[in-house]
Amino acid sequence: MTHLRFKALDQVSDRKEVKALPAPSDKISDYFGQDVFGLEQMKATLSSEVFKVVSSAIKKGKKINIDTASEVAAAAKTWAMNKGITHYTHWFQPLTGSTAEKHDSFFDASSGLEKFRGSALVQQEPDASSFPNGGIRSTFEARGYTAWDPSSPMFIYGRTLCIPTIFVAYTGEALDNKAPLLKAVEAIDSAAVRVCNYFDRNVNSVKASLGVEQEYFVVDKALYAARPDLVMAGRTVFGHNPARGQQLDDHYFGSIPSRVYDFMKDFEIQCLKLGIPVSTRHNEVAPSQFEVAPLFEEINVASDHNQLLMDVMSRVSERHDLKVLFHEKPFAGLNGSGKHNNWSLITNSGVNLFQPSSSARENLQFLTFFISTIKAVHEHADLLRASIATSGNDHRLGANEAPPAIVSVFIGSKLSNVLDELESKGNINVEKGDNMYMKLGIDNIPEIILDNTDRNRTSPFAFTGNKFEFRAVGSSDNCASPMTVLNTIVADQLTKFADEVDKMIEKGEEKRIAIVKVLRRYITESKAIRFEGDGYSDEWVKEAEKRGLSNVKSTPNAISAYLSKESKELFARFGVMSEVENEARQEIKLENYMMKIQIEARVMGDLALNHIIPTAVAYQNKLINNANGLKGLGIDNTDVVNSIKEISGYINTINSEVSNMIEERKRINKIEDVKDRAVAYCDNIKETYFEKIRYAADKLELLIDDEDWPLVKYRELLFLR
Ligand code: ADP
Ligand code: MG
Repeated sequence: MTHLRFKALDQVSDRKEVKALPAPSDKISDYFGQDVFGLEQMKATLSSEVFKVVSSAIKKGKKINIDTASEVAAAAKTWAMNKGITHYTHWFQPLTGSTAEKHDSFFDASSGLEKFRGSALVQQEPDASSFPNGGIRSTFEARGYTAWDPSSPMFIYGRTLCIPTIFVAYTGEALDNKAPLLKAVEAIDSAAVRVCNYFDRNVNSVKASLGVEQEYFVVDKALYAARPDLVMAGRTVFGHNPARGQQLDDHYFGSIPSRVYDFMKDFEIQCLKLGIPVSTRHNEVAPSQFEVAPLFEEINVASDHNQLLMDVMSRVSERHDLKVLFHEKPFAGLNGSGKHNNWSLITNSGVNLFQPSSSARENLQFLTFFISTIKAVHEHADLLRASIATSGNDHRLGANEAPPAIVSVFIGSKLSNVLDELESKGNINVEKGDNMYMKLGIDNIPEIILDNTDRNRTSPFAFTGNKFEFRAVGSSDNCASPMTVLNTIVADQLTKFADEVDKMIEKGEEKRIAIVKVLRRYITESKAIRFEGDGYSDEWVKEAEKRGLSNVKSTPNAISAYLSKESKELFARFGVMSEVENEARQEIKLENYMMKIQIEARVMGDLALNHIIPTAVAYQNKLINNANGLKGLGIDNTDVVNSIKEISGYINTINSEVSNMIEERKRINKIEDVKDRAVAYCDNIKETYFEKIRYAADKLELLIDDEDWPLVKYRELLFLR
């Protein structure tokens, strides 16, 4: 019998080169966005009055009435049909973590015509009974609807016109990732405008921008298929480290393996057609790990584009006989994957509020946003941690080899000095006029040089010259969740800031002095969250504890932060989520977490019992024959007997730990309370059994004849040519 492992390895060595499909043109500008019904296409197809209404509604985030929607629908239909498209779908992001769609034909059999009504653009009713709803909708009244989000343009994907939408329960609660994000974007817009107006009366809108660096692993499709754990759980639950891992640091920025390079070129072309501005690609730290990053865009579009990008990558990988892994930690002992969320705030006049400048007045504005963000992270670190909590990310944050789950902010030595000076220097009460800026050392903050020298790769939340980079986000996550929280907490902080400053101005304080006074206090109050050292070190874990920062290691505990009285009020205050929506979401996350751990536990048990133990027993029998043979010949067989004993030991461990784990699951499944059950899955299943079982299985992998081992090994999975 030949194991699937060897068949798969044969397939890999027989692979023919798959070239990337040719691009529509050598010039990207010729085809960038060709499959998008964006402003440009609307302008070309709508009457100028209708276009004016639509574009201004989109820019201002206003509602579009049904008559206008009908015009847009008609134009979109004609545009799409000219490209051979017959169907449309509302494209939405249910709380399952991926995207969903239900296709409808333009063709209306009763009239014999192709139709696409405004009402169909604006609203659709998918049969939503099987999407998670956290108890908001019982399945017998399974009605939910999707509603058009004009701020993210329609696009053609496959053979279908896709309409970005939000997903709402029949009872009115949002059941997707996008709706709260849109609310948070509105919240930060108005809060930031209010603060900007202290410095510049002309600012009337502030948009949050997001640039997503997406990390991922790539493995051969046949090898993937021969690893049931990768197929079922997205990560390997067994596998001994290869002799060579990432210790040589030779993969990072090395040359890209040719199969992967063709795959990258291919998916990039597809992305560019869809208007996703992919711009950088490179190897990452671990073998077979890579990164792709588009140019930043408005947050809602960037977030949609990231969801679409992941889908495009998965589909295109098929053609190259590859499989993309978005899991945060597919391989133990190697770096995990993240999704760095680069975030900034940009005014309608194009000023990036996180860009230091040589003008004193603008620098005070920069510092206001900069310090308020740090303060917001300090006040709501637990919520930020909660926003990235998933079972996958738990393997990356807070596990043995991973960075800790402590939220801290890195700002670099130059800005640390600026804040220290601002905090301590000068009697600002007597310094009116421009002298004040000089006294405070902010008349000329050197523009931060955008290079890597002052970068700290170990910080979960780092200032990188003109933007903040939230690095702790998991690679498979939807950006909407962390971006909803980040924008909401900063909106809240900016609002509090403006309230305080207004009050002081009312009492007769000069505006600039009021601003500086509040900022100075914020610097002092948020000092504990600032950390410039090695975020991966043990010392930091101890230091953070002394500072009173939390280090919440598991998802079930982390997401409690959403349910505190303070958080509930915060989300309600900005209309981001009602209490019911919030609670439903957290329940879904807990359920999701449990299911993931349950699947991992099952895969582990199954593989242990029907792959690993039988292999170990068969090999043990070979050794027993050998030992008896040696004995018969009167040769010393101590070594073989010792090997047999060692193998027996591991077999016994696996057998007993797996059956204990199964018993424990049965007990846990009876726990009523969702949170308690999730905590039990974490503490009593994952933490108690996974490592023990894995340790024994990985030892067996080393001891057993390579010819007999049934699972594709790390060294085979990880070194693509
Ligand atoms: P890194 O050195 O971290 O890889 P890059 O300069 O390559 O940084 O940028 C990473 C991402 O940050 C890209 O998606 C880029 O478009 C985005 N980015 C750059 N400036 C901004 C900004 N002002 N706001 C949001 N994202 C930004
Ligand atoms: Mg980065």
